[in-house]
Amino acid sequence: MDFQLTDEQKMLKDMVRDFVEKEIRPYAGEWDEKEVFVPDEIIQKYADLGLLGITLPEEYGGQGLTAFEAILVIEEIAKVSPLAAFPIFEANVGPARVIHLFGTEEQKKKYLPRVTSGEIMISVGMTEPEAGSALTDLRTRAVLDGDYYVVNGQKRFCSGGGHSQAYVVYVRLSEAKGAKGIGGLIIEKGTPGFTFGKQERFMGFRGFPSCDLIFEDCRVPKENLVVQEGGFKDLMRAFDIERLGNATMSLGLAAGALEESIKYVQERKQFGKPICEFQAVQFMLADMVMKVEAARLLIYRAAVNASQGYPSVLHSSIAKCFAGEIAKEVTDMALMIHGGYGYSKEYPIERMVRDSRGWPVAGGTLQIQRINIASALLGRRFDQRR
Ligand SMILES: Cc1cc2nc3c(=O)[nH]c(=O)nc-3n(C[C@H](O)[C@H](O)[C@H](O)COP(=O)(O)OP(=O)(O)OC[C@H]3O[C@@H](n4cnc5c(N)ncnc54)[C@H](O)[C@@H]3O)c2cc1C
Repeated sequence: MDFQLTDEQKMLKDMVRDFVEKEIRPYAGEWDEKEVFVPDEIIQKYADLGLLGITLPEEYGGQGLTAFEAILVIEEIAKVSPLAAFPIFEANVGPARVIHLFGTEEQKKKYLPRVTSGEIMISVGMTEPEAGSALTDLRTRAVLDGDYYVVNGQKRFCSGGGHSQAYVVYVRLSEAKGAKGIGGLIIEKGTPGFTFGKQERFMGFRGFPSCDLIFEDCRVPKENLVVQEGGFKDLMRAFDIERLGNATMSLGLAAGALEESIKYVQERKQFGKPICEFQAVQFMLADMVMKVEAARLLIYRAAVNASQGYPSVLHSSIAKCFAGEIAKEVTDMALMIHGGYGYSKEYPIERMVRDSRGWPVAGGTLQIQRINIASALLGRRFDQRR
């Protein structure tokens, strides 16, 4: 067991940190305020730096590294702006990985080079109006008709919705109930019968494209099937990687709020001295750093153990649950440390507080993570329907 980063990993982190200071920090507040997504020029720079293919194979323009390197990068960017980290999340631990892990050679050749070059972003459509935590209740139906699947149904809260050029959509491929009938289809924006609902307006996540995906007799070429019927377990195994990305967004927010607080307590003076000299403030900082470091270690453990493969459900759920909880607590403490300025839009803390509430829900609520944890711990599956 080694808790040191390699020289290459340190260089990657430093390079991203420099990039963030120049290209992200000056604009993060403005993107939130104006509710706009990361500009295309930034995405192109990510591509030039190889950040959109950290975990994807070299033959498709990627770097062939592991989820751990992607997590290092996502944390550095999310410290300042989870919005800006999102394209890297989608490419390295999100739906593009589903194509990498389960796609046909043709699918990989068609989509992955366009992901790594920044030409397209791929998003995931799982949740439905009546199927959130109970995901296996999903009803979006794909029926084979000659060389096409005819898709009908509606997806909710799709991050990237409307903006992304392609979607990995969880569909029901037969009448088989529950997980059995579920598989995954790649559906491209612009396919006739595929439209978008209105843009969501969230408490945080401002600037994030998010909306319903609506399919009405949408004809999708049958070669776009990426996960066969009965492959729900594969989709979930890949989702364990995405869950670590979610956890890292929470970690980034907490670590970013801690960094802001460390600066602030040494600058802000009350009663004639910097507020870091008050024990009550020191205790808050100590609690914040303990939480951040514990979350980081849990995420690192899950990612390192997964290497090029999949993290265990236990490790990824513990990491997501813990990081989601502490992001709320740490950003709240940062707000207290900043006093009235923490509540003001002049400082990034209020944005971090808002953003910290979304990640614990995205990718499965913290209650559902606790169910996963208890199931893995006890070696039993608890049917929530009985
Ligand atoms: C910011 C954001 C981004 C998202 N991005 C995406 C995306 O890109 N793609 C996508 O498909 N979805 C996305 N989602 C949807 C997300 O995955 C769901 O919101 C989440 O899984 C919860 O589903 P729900 O909202 O329907 O809540 P529900 O499932 O209705 O849950 C409501 C409450 O009931 C609790 N609950 C439900 N069942 C149980 C149970 N068995 N035991 C205990 N408690 C239970 C939940 O924990 C929660 O507290 C996103 C959501 C958010 C907020």
